[in-house]
Amino acid sequence: MKKILIGLGTALLVLAAVVLVRTAQYTAPAPTAEKIRARDIDARSVAEHLSAAIGFQTVSAQLQQQPTQQQFEAFIAWLAETYPQVHATMAPQRLGTDPDHRYSLLFTWRGQRDDLQPILLSAHYDVVPVIPGTDDQWQHPPYSGAIDDTHIWGRGSLDDKSAVIALMEAASQLLKEGFQPQRTVYISLTNDEEIGGNHGTAAVVKKLEQDGVRPAWTLDEGSFLLRGFIPGIDGDVASINVAEKGYMTVDLVAHGKGGHSSMPPRQTAVDTLAEALVKLQQSPIPGGLDGVGGQMFDAIAPHMPFGKRLLFANRWLFGGLIEKALKGSPSTAAMLHTTIAPTMLHASVKENVLPIEAVATINLRVHPRDTIDGVAEYLKNTIGDDRVDLVVRQSDPASRVSSTDAAGFKALASATRATYGPVIVAPGLTVAATDSHRYEKVADNSYRFNPMVVSREDIHGFHGTNERISIENMVKATNFYSQLIESGSAE
Ligand SMILES: [Zn+2]
Repeated sequence: MKKILIGLGTALLVLAAVVLVRTAQYTAPAPTAEKIRARDIDARSVAEHLSAAIGFQTVSAQLQQQPTQQQFEAFIAWLAETYPQVHATMAPQRLGTDPDHRYSLLFTWRGQRDDLQPILLSAHYDVVPVIPGTDDQWQHPPYSGAIDDTHIWGRGSLDDKSAVIALMEAASQLLKEGFQPQRTVYISLTNDEEIGGNHGTAAVVKKLEQDGVRPAWTLDEGSFLLRGFIPGIDGDVASINVAEKGYMTVDLVAHGKGGHSSMPPRQTAVDTLAEALVKLQQSPIPGGLDGVGGQMFDAIAPHMPFGKRLLFANRWLFGGLIEKALKGSPSTAAMLHTTIAPTMLHASVKENVLPIEAVATINLRVHPRDTIDGVAEYLKNTIGDDRVDLVVRQSDPASRVSSTDAAGFKALASATRATYGPVIVAPGLTVAATDSHRYEKVADNSYRFNPMVVSREDIHGFHGTNERISIENMVKATNFYSQLIESGSAE
């Protein structure tokens, strides 16, 4: 007995030693300190330009309506007036799949070297509508572009006119300095991101394809510098997203006999459907810390306090525990696996009529490790019921995973640190769909990042009420894009 106890004690000591040594080794050098290179940017003028841009009600969901089309036209005219040098040098082409409504703009800043691959920077100037009935909940009217001591307010201030304006400001600034890029720099300002990009962004991508343009990398909206989102990390984390989840909608259709509800069979179509939904709820699509989600934590976890670092350093022992904790929160769970969200249900048309069919619509966001066919197969096998048909209504696979070793990622990391100091830079995953899923078809790598700091209270502004951005963020973003164009367009 004593021997067994000693043996057990020794094993535990060895285990503890291994865990501690691994934790001690699991550190990362402090984030590289780049010299902050701040240009002298006129904060007031940048804020006023964003304010004016917010005043145009460029709501893409209403693009069918003539008054809205006039808003898009007026915005394009205002851009040309406000940034004359950018327009003169980069002669924007107006693009759209419908020749009468070409509202996306593709600027070409010709590089000095034709033998180098170009780069493409993108942002969208369309916005989502203000939720009806919420106008009076805004501290400043949603299209006022009000500027107070610290912020610019209004729809589009975060998503994504801030990036549009910061890009234009940066290009103007560089032109004033006489800068000439080595590589050609494309700037794409699109008009229909919020409704899927089928007209504007699609036309931009088609144009690039036709012209045989293949950017080394593209940058479009995505994540931000995240403040206070990651437990255990005090500083900002720049999440430069290297991939984007796919989109899939399926109908589950359960069949029944119908008839009068006074004499129901033991199981109706609704019961069959309910069983299928419960099975899916109980067997989520497997996932974990492999892939992009894991890459993100690999970049962040070495900077965490000892207790958390100990867990991540010893995934062989605590992997299950970590994944369980991450899956406990919807936002981190979405990083780890393909999500299943039943969103719509319908069955009988009348309360006393048994349904012949009961249908559940399920929206899935496909993790880059999964394929559309694989997910459909998983759903079928998990339900395992011949009485339930699965109809895939819409499917867009997940994006490729772009490289963190490529020049584009490095240029982004370096411009981030030159602007914000030694922050943690981590690759991440965009869980919703953006224009990037189109750009990736014509580019070697696609990155998704907005160079602004967001905190938890800012989040409600995205597609919600009281959207705003700080003036400081706009100045920093302008600085960032200037650095990025300079370093990203070099040899
Ligand atoms: Zn957006």
